[in-house]
Amino acid sequence: MSAAADSPALPPFTGMALDRVSTERKDGGWVRSRMADPGTRVIAAGRDGVLVAGDEAPELVRGPVRDGWLSEPILLGLDDGGAALFAVDVDGLAAEERSRALNGNRLMSLREAGAVMVPAEAGLAAYVMALLNWHRRHRFCANCGHATDVAEGGGLRQCPRCGANHFPRTDPVVIMTVEHDDRLLLGRRAGWPPGRLSVLAGFVSPGESAEEAVVREVEEESGIIARDPVFVASQPWPFPASLMLGFHAVADGGEPRVADDELEEVHWLHRDAIAEAAGGGDPGFQLPPPVSIARFLIDRWISES
Ligand SMILES: [Zn+2]
Repeated sequence: MSAAADSPALPPFTGMALDRVSTERKDGGWVRSRMADPGTRVIAAGRDGVLVAGDEAPELVRGPVRDGWLSEPILLGLDDGGAALFAVDVDGLAAEERSRALNGNRLMSLREAGAVMVPAEAGLAAYVMALLNWHRRHRFCANCGHATDVAEGGGLRQCPRCGANHFPRTDPVVIMTVEHDDRLLLGRRAGWPPGRLSVLAGFVSPGESAEEAVVREVEEESGIIARDPVFVASQPWPFPASLMLGFHAVADGGEPRVADDELEEVHWLHRDAIAEAAGGGDPGFQLPPPVSIARFLIDRWISES
């Protein structure tokens, strides 16, 4: 049985199980009461990853709230027991408080978390990183430049000078399997080691549908004309702020060629070769790791045909 036969139903980082309390968080008094509740916990993270404990089955550390940690309250939501969880950015803490927050535990990169955690926990890790990344990078108003304030339990930043509301942002990226004659179009990005190949991907442009972005990106990166893109699945990808939109498209052949600076090579690869690489049987050809929706789409293509 190939690895592809075991391909999961949903990509990693999906399955976050908290109630995001989108309505309740608009009530400042309610948020403050959650902050003061002795059952409330914090999940700590920084640029380097999320705070975890446990080696065999690592989990996010749910630690007690300390004075000053919620000066900018970023409420993640309520767990299934009704306890509130807040996010704390350890990179924003003074050294002594940071080591107190880490409490001897370690920061695990989000890629590693996605590879080793159960789906709900990996999804929560992605949520924490996505939200903290956004707050860290949007401390000033994009409209007037003034410092912004956290509002709605971290679901919003408001500008006290011009009144603009800034909502957490995700950047849509299309990523696609493109098929012709039992082959997939795979490329190697600049900087990747020799033999590492993946499906093509790119940001959606303003004024463009996701389907149009699929066709444009494939042509820009390979010269191949893709058609009939069909949505397959999506994945939060907070590196730092993407939402991956996975598609499958077909093409009528043609000789792929590197058409811009993003790829160093691009080829049609036959199903048999891809399946062998997916099973680890070809040391000269590596597919992307299972944490990525790229691998999810490739495994799905192998198993469905
Ligand atoms: Zn402003």
